[in-house]
Amino acid sequence: MTEQAVKLGSRGVLVVGASVAGVRVARDLRRHGFDGRITIAGAEESLPYDKPPLSKQYLAGTFDTARLSLIEPSELEALRLDLRLGAKAVSLSAHDRIVVDDAGRELAYDVCVVATGASARPSPWGGGERVHLLRTLGDSARLKAAITPGARVVVIGAGLIGSEVASTSAKLGAQVTVIDPLRSPMAKLAGEDLAGVIESAHARHGVRAHFGVGVAGLSDDSQSVTVRLTTSEEIEADLAVVGIGVSTNDAWLAGSGAETGQGVECDEYGRVVGLAGVYAAGDVARWPRPPLGIPQRVEHWTNAVEQAATVAYNIVHQDSPVANKPTDYMWSDQYDLKLQVVGWPALSTLHCVIGEPSALPPRFAALFADDRNALSAAVTVNWPRALAECRRLLDESADVVAARDRLEALHRPAPSQLSS
Ligand SMILES: Cc1cc2nc3c(=O)[nH]c(=O)nc-3n(C[C@H](O)[C@H](O)[C@H](O)COP(=O)(O)OP(=O)(O)OC[C@H]3O[C@@H](n4cnc5c(N)ncnc54)[C@H](O)[C@@H]3O)c2cc1C
Repeated sequence: MTEQAVKLGSRGVLVVGASVAGVRVARDLRRHGFDGRITIAGAEESLPYDKPPLSKQYLAGTFDTARLSLIEPSELEALRLDLRLGAKAVSLSAHDRIVVDDAGRELAYDVCVVATGASARPSPWGGGERVHLLRTLGDSARLKAAITPGARVVVIGAGLIGSEVASTSAKLGAQVTVIDPLRSPMAKLAGEDLAGVIESAHARHGVRAHFGVGVAGLSDDSQSVTVRLTTSEEIEADLAVVGIGVSTNDAWLAGSGAETGQGVECDEYGRVVGLAGVYAAGDVARWPRPPLGIPQRVEHWTNAVEQAATVAYNIVHQDSPVANKPTDYMWSDQYDLKLQVVGWPALSTLHCVIGEPSALPPRFAALFADDRNALSAAVTVNWPRALAECRRLLDESADVVAARDRLEALHRPAPSQLSS
């Protein structure tokens, strides 16, 4: 498609939030031929960095900060991106098309992109220095310093981040306990039937799991932290990590005309409902999505990248915008498991499991079907090739039986294919 020169004024595009969604919008705007001014305002002082390694390789000490970089200074210069660090937006005036930061500086825009993501939900039980959250590079660095071999680590919340922290802490030689009020905390992500396979990895790696048990309270002093469970049991540790979800960074938009509190509502093109000239992408944004068609937030890296691409395209092609087509892909690395998910297993029915879920380590794919028997979601463990195949099959709207046959052929290749 030929790129058109977008007609914006001299204020150009202001991207608020300098993480993966914000950086991708800026980069994609240039890719689509936008030649005007691009300013990125980010609340943090550090150059844009990527978050997934913060609970994995960076926490484990196998990546340094250079490996987290989302954009190098040379690329910022080559793309003529005006990056303002330490500029936290505090308000937006839709009438004047101006964002004000916490130092009172005014940032004028023709088009604004909200990419301010989310923050870790603070501990509702309080706690001092021994109680950690994990969202930023600073959080991960502090946690890394605290997780020493033999340290007693209690992780509250066994979702994606909590499970990864438990896994990395165990790898570092800590004694780990993980707590979650849900009986099957990974079910939302991987589907009820498969969550057990993934969760049993905790036990295989010596991590004590208390699932289906809530936290009643927490206290800490200079020596230790004590977590009191709803069963009255107490767990003493050297540090606690609270991984109980996030809250969206949208309070700065209060009074602007956008609905705030649970993420910024957008249409299928990424335009913020109620705010002309403003788009939103990534963890902060609520876009309408299939299969339900209602605006929903998704807290996955690939979602942020895809929404950023759609927003950049639509800013450049305002007269012919395209709707976002999400692949709904996410991954997680825990223990010896590379978990990959495409689609929404929790909204589908498990059709079959191909491979060896009980092998050590497991290697399998679970296929899910919708009510028309089409493949609607897949979870793979330690089998990236199967995941790539499932993504192709989903694109083709394949029948689930045809998808099963294809994966079985991949699992047990014909003898003639074994040598290739
Ligand atoms: C530890 C960790 C591990 C993860 N692992 C995975 C994984 O394995 N797989 C996966 O799919 N996803 C993973 N994710 C999720 C993924 O990283 C997020 O979906 C992604 O970072 C969202 O990007 P974003 O740019 O929308 O928001 P964020 O990354 O939250 O960035 C928002 C940026 O905006 C800035 N900001 C906030 N408020 C303001 C303001 N008022 N003014 C200016 N700037 C502001 C923030 O400082 C931040 O830099 C992980 C997340 C974390 C925290």
